[in-house]
Amino acid sequence: MQNIDWANLTFGYYPTNYNVRCYFRNGEWGELEVSSETTINIHMAATCLHYGQEAFEGMKAFRGKDGKVRIFRMDENGKRLQSSCDGVMMAKLPLEKFEEAVIKVVKLNADFIPPYETGASLYIRPLLIGMGAQVGVKPASEYLFIVFVTPVGPYFKGGFMANPYVITRKYDRSAPLGTGIFKVGGNYAASLRAHVEACHGGQYACEFYLDAKEKKYIDEAGAANFFGIKDNTYITPQSTSILPSITNKSLMQLAESIGMKVERRPIPEEELATFEEAGACGTAAVISPISRIDDPETGKSYSFGNGKPGPWSEKLYNKLRGIQYGTEPDEFGWITVVEGL
Ligand SMILES: *Cc1c(COP(=O)(O)O)cnc(C)c1O
Repeated sequence: MQNIDWANLTFGYYPTNYNVRCYFRNGEWGELEVSSETTINIHMAATCLHYGQEAFEGMKAFRGKDGKVRIFRMDENGKRLQSSCDGVMMAKLPLEKFEEAVIKVVKLNADFIPPYETGASLYIRPLLIGMGAQVGVKPASEYLFIVFVTPVGPYFKGGFMANPYVITRKYDRSAPLGTGIFKVGGNYAASLRAHVEACHGGQYACEFYLDAKEKKYIDEAGAANFFGIKDNTYITPQSTSILPSITNKSLMQLAESIGMKVERRPIPEEELATFEEAGACGTAAVISPISRIDDPETGKSYSFGNGKPGPWSEKLYNKLRGIQYGTEPDEFGWITVVEGL
């Protein structure tokens, strides 16, 4: 075990020992390679640098109370990476290779998996980029897949907490028939200005986007899906421009299993006024409860509960975290226990 101040880790980059790589050349994927380099040697005409052929994933490994190391829904991340590759015309990494690489990189860096008590975890970042050198606009013929890990601190240092969010009307994150459904770097480039302008004053946790076409419905935050809760019902947007969050998918299943109804449909902004609870969900926080959403351009403001996380949100959060840390049974088969650690 590394001598790290686990509890004070942030969501930053902390160096670890190894990463795992795999090249696609001459029409096929090669063997997995272990590297201790943190840099990559890349042609200046590579398509990832010019035409945005890049996709990534984000997932976590957890050290449980029982000492076992668990990875959450790895197959879903592998499938989503394939879908993102389809979206920006990149070679798709076979699912078995993805899972083998993820397990390998976790094992190689086992020393960096935070102890259970700290509430920290090992963040896993797979990425896939176009490497072929060319200037014409077309998909590359060579690709590189890399997966690295970095320990990250507990998201809620002072306990599970609600935060204010803000609606941005000035910018769109993605178009209705664009790349919003794929986890590609380009969507993030497109949202950085909105994020910095809306949130770097420190007043808001993150920005929400409305649907780009009508500016009427809630889409999602820059890196998290939205859900609202009322009348024992978990409601999350149906849209062609939001990223299918694995956390959201899991929360929908959990909500049903604890007796809630689940609705997936467009959510008009005005409906925010009717929710008893609301949250942003994603791998980083699981659930980041929302105390308030402001819409500065219209002067509207929507508050949820009494500014504290609501009871359903708390129940869902504890249940999902419990499955990840092995204190709740893995009733849906979401967990891969890494053997030999
Ligand atoms: C990654 C991501 C999410 C969250 O997805 P999870 O699979 O739950 O981590 C939500 N929105 C966007 C835009 C994302 O990139």
